[in-house]
Amino acid sequence: MPLSTSPITLAAGGAAGLSGQRNARGEWRPQAPITLPPIACWPPRPLALLKWMFGFPGFLWPMNSLFLAMTLLTWLFLTPALASMQTFELWWIGVLFARNFALVLLVAGGLHLYLHIFRGQGENLQFSNRPLITGSTRTLFGKRFLWGDQVIDNMLRTLGAGVPVITAYEAVTYWAFSNGYIGITGSAASPAGFWVAFVLVLLAAPVIHALHFYLAHRLLHTKLLYRSAHCVHHLNVECGPWSGLAMHPVEQVLYFSTVLVQWLLALHPVHALFQIHLAIFPALVGHSGFEKLLLWRGIGLESGNYFHYLHHKYFECNYGGSLAPLDTVFGTFHDGSAAAQVAMRERMLARRGADT
Ligand SMILES: [Zn+2]
Ligand SMILES: [Zn+2]
Repeated sequence: MPLSTSPITLAAGGAAGLSGQRNARGEWRPQAPITLPPIACWPPRPLALLKWMFGFPGFLWPMNSLFLAMTLLTWLFLTPALASMQTFELWWIGVLFARNFALVLLVAGGLHLYLHIFRGQGENLQFSNRPLITGSTRTLFGKRFLWGDQVIDNMLRTLGAGVPVITAYEAVTYWAFSNGYIGITGSAASPAGFWVAFVLVLLAAPVIHALHFYLAHRLLHTKLLYRSAHCVHHLNVECGPWSGLAMHPVEQVLYFSTVLVQWLLALHPVHALFQIHLAIFPALVGHSGFEKLLLWRGIGLESGNYFHYLHHKYFECNYGGSLAPLDTVFGTFHDGSAAAQVAMRERMLARRGADT
């Protein structure tokens, strides 16, 4: 599952941010262990927390504002009028599908071309210098990559299954809002109250995503769901942007069910679209295979994802993201250190002992 799935952060470079080391197997790791965000610190550090949430470089809103802007532009210019979606018709569902297909192709394809084909960043901050897999003789039904090519397999799963799942959730959401099956009435009577609630729900969307992601991901690691669905995403040990949404369709349905929370809150369809975008785009960036996407003078988009890289490498750690540090609560946090590695091994041995 993505990672988105860990949330994406903006971070400055500099010695602490960019230093790391590469071992003989070509695997890169940051110099320092992954640190807990201020939200998980006790006693509280309010100033650090505010900077982490709203500052630059910060954690939450500098980057999520970009996704929010993308959502608003998509809602205003690339979405049919709500009133026209009262009945399911091929034309408007087709419009949603085409624009979702194009946006995913643009972001994942652009990142893949820049990072993995044109090598725009070289090996700088790349987790592993092993190339993405091609030429494998394994088959899809043998739970290996379709046509032996990781990128083709990932693209087909993303565009062929992920985009239809996204579009289906979106279409049902607009249809339900359009018919008044969900949605709050009476906003005209209290416009100020409506806008306060509107902003609060927007601010809550990344938290909703993080909580839903952690819980759904733990569910996917139960034996039945792992073997029947989630193992498909874990075929990707070294990841690229197309790996982010490369999942079994069952996992895609579960992963994007985060939008159902917005059906319950039922305030405005743009919240649902933002919730969906938070599940799409951070996952694509977060699986880029690089710790940061360098922009200028060491400042980069931190895909945040040595944390999630360790999940792909070891399976039994780092199920969530640092926005909702539930891994620290449930004892599955791996900070990349040798001590965390020992703790994870002991945890796995204890679990195997309990299973036998
Ligand atoms: Zn997993
Ligand atoms: Zn993943």
